[in-house]
Amino acid sequence: MIEICDRCGARIEPGDIRYLMRITLNVDDGGVITNPIGDEEVDRIIKELQNADPDELEKQVHEELSYIICPRCRRDFLSDPLGRKAFD
Ligand SMILES: [Zn+2]
Repeated sequence: MIEICDRCGARIEPGDIRYLMRITLNVDDGGVITNPIGDEEVDRIIKELQNADPDELEKQVHEELSYIICPRCRRDFLSDPLGRKAFD
């Protein structure tokens, strides 16, 4: 089965090397324990959660993405995994 690189759109023929890239993003509080919050703050957070899209909330805590990429895109990705060049 011919696949398409999710990044550059190159055709990946049967037998060609391809890479499965999995990205997992988990929320991390950095080990910082926040100060106890007051009742008003709790009410505000509950209201916010009630109005929020559950899928979006879930994504903010944990998200997994997966892509099929070609060898060239693998090389490009590894040379700048965080896209830092965009900030130069
Ligand atoms: Zn590619």
